[in-house]
Amino acid sequence: MSKCPHCGAEVQFQPGTQLVHCEYCGSDFQPEEMQEAPKKGKKVATEQIKGNAYVCSQCGATLLTFDETAVTFCSYCGSQNMLEEKMVSQDAPDLIIPFQKTRDDCIKSYKKKVSHSIFAPSYMKSQPVVQKFRGIYMPYGVYNLSYKEDCVNQGSKYNHRSGNYIYYDKYAIHANIDSTYKGMSFDLLSNFYDEYSQSIPFDSRLAVPFNANYLPGFYADSKDVPIGTYSDDAIKIASVDSTNYFKHKAFYRKYSCSCPTVPYHVEEKKLGFFPVYFLSVRDQKDDKKLYYAIINGQTGKVVADLPIDFIKYIIISILLSVPIFFLLMKLPTITPTAIVWFTILASIVCIFICFKQGGKVQEREARWDDKGYDYYLRQNQVTDAKKSRRVNLLRKKKIKLSQYIKLLIAILLSLGVVILHPVDDLYYYLISFASCILILFSFYDLVKLHNQLVSRPIPQLHKRGGDEHE
Ligand SMILES: [Zn+2]
Ligand SMILES: [Zn+2]
Repeated sequence: MSKCPHCGAEVQFQPGTQLVHCEYCGSDFQPEEMQEAPKKGKKVATEQIKGNAYVCSQCGATLLTFDETAVTFCSYCGSQNMLEEKMVSQDAPDLIIPFQKTRDDCIKSYKKKVSHSIFAPSYMKSQPVVQKFRGIYMPYGVYNLSYKEDCVNQGSKYNHRSGNYIYYDKYAIHANIDSTYKGMSFDLLSNFYDEYSQSIPFDSRLAVPFNANYLPGFYADSKDVPIGTYSDDAIKIASVDSTNYFKHKAFYRKYSCSCPTVPYHVEEKKLGFFPVYFLSVRDQKDDKKLYYAIINGQTGKVVADLPIDFIKYIIISILLSVPIFFLLMKLPTITPTAIVWFTILASIVCIFICFKQGGKVQEREARWDDKGYDYYLRQNQVTDAKKSRRVNLLRKKKIKLSQYIKLLIAILLSLGVVILHPVDDLYYYLISFASCILILFSFYDLVKLHNQLVSRPIPQLHKRGGDEHE
């Protein structure tokens, strides 16, 4: 733990000034200046970092602190059961991107985002909730890839035609490829969904060699996925990118030459600490549901799960529909048949949205393309039954009939009236009205699906017992 070289009090790294600040004597220091520890001549950890570890007894997540701040709640599940472990030390990362954005700035941009979403429940931006934003250094694997090779590819070009023969010139196209990709990064935490980490990309060129003085005032999490896990992904991304590069070269097109394949290899894998402000909010009605808000501590980009408050939704919908209704009344007469056809169209659109949303919910629950989670499942020997359940979640799209039945009834009723063609207009109005009510009811299902789509179950990692294990 870093102490003030002047007075020995605790210091904190401040993103606003990029300096290490001592509250007690008011001094500021460059983090690099402080590399040599003031006391006992021992070095401030260069190969090991030391911190107090707090383990969540509910979800198993671990948080490290580097000052005397006690961790009273878990950032990943919101539980208040954090158990303090004694001082731990672990391998220091190679790189660090120091926090650039202050916590206050991030809370401000988060609140702005919530305000823009008119249906979001108000508690999402209440003071007690946003105060739980925590700056955490997340472990990332940083990959450098390279490929150096001379390669030859065959090309050909039309020359001329003579009688029944077309003449082509053949070319051997030489390329000296010397290509590198630097700083491709992937998170190394199974409880940090890849979906989030991919939506807050970091500029790893701004990473600096690790220095423990960037830590105090913040938290850190330790990796639970080995650094090699994402090597193949990095290689794939680089290879696809290079192939695209060649494809767009006029030269290769002119000679209709197949593009060289570029089998990169991972030259270097480094462990990095990347800055993230993290918040988990428990649903106020359903205690088992979590919403996450994640902010990139380098760029300030916000990703947040924003559920829809159904009461707010209904009030705003009614407020909007009243003026629309009067506007329609003013329009030159709309025929009753047109109204019925309109409700049929609306029902079909709703069915389509229900189907798409339902599929997305299943995909998300299965965490299909999350390699860190895959690794976790393998490592913890999750039972085959559980694994195949995950596969089944995707293969067999469960269609919940209850979600569609109202809409199907609406369509049938409307079609019935169109086919029977009653003389009295009243039937048309009655059926349209009934259909509209049914569609409104199915909006409730849509809102529920949306909320399911943006929520997460309470994480169950590393925890002994429970349903993840035998
Ligand atoms: Zn001081
Ligand atoms: Zn927890």
